Amino acid sequence: MTRVLVVEDDPQLVRALKINLQARKFDVEAAPDGGSALRLAAARKPDVIVLDLGLPDMDGIEVIKGVRSSSKVPILVLSARHTSEDKIRALDAGADDYVTKPFSMDELLARLRAATRRQAEPDGRADDVTVITTDGFSIDLPAKKVRRGDRTVRLTPTEWHLLEILVTHPGHLVSQQQLLLEVWGPTYSENTNYLRVYMAQLRRKLEADPSHPRYLITEPGMGYRFEP
Ligand code: CA
Repeated sequence: MTRVLVVEDDPQLVRALKINLQARKFDVEAAPDGGSALRLAAARKPDVIVLDLGLPDMDGIEVIKGVRSSSKVPILVLSARHTSEDKIRALDAGADDYVTKPFSMDELLARLRAATRRQAEPDGRADDVTVITTDGFSIDLPAKKVRRGDRTVRLTPTEWHLLEILVTHPGHLVSQQQLLLEVWGPTYSENTNYLRVYMAQLRRKLEADPSHPRYLITEPGMGYRFEP
């Protein structure tokens, strides 16, 4: 049974989350503030944490940092804050994903399942996976080869680097900053236009309908996600 720690100070939302999660066989514990969240996270070692950012005693970002100092447990942030700056702060502090209130229970459950699946993989990376196969294309990571049907897709080194980061974090939101830092280096952290250009090129090469991508998804203002 997957154990979820719900950190939320709105009792009605806690009740709704408990009912929905327990119905899907999650074992749910709730903390109404940051202090009890940190205590429960350390004592009970939950499999995943659902965290509201607006808490009565501390900022949820501080809870993320506190939990991350000793644990890699997936953290799914739940917040009414809509700006991409808030989302990036939460992701940079170590959150794994972000759901904006109001959210649909189905969306939250899908993100929770993705987060707990990734937990089975060390550091969230599928290190032992060497060939990634989708209905549209296949990627041989050690050989650095991409195939679509029976033909090889030629990628530039930059396109390859971007694609490799995304596909080794399947289902995971990778922030613009992380991609820019890893592919172009620290002095390019503002050049989000590079990402738009190169992602458009990758989609033209890999997606059946590049303007409605199935695999290489944009999370506006935040980053990109490979949906396997
Ligand atoms: Ca709140």
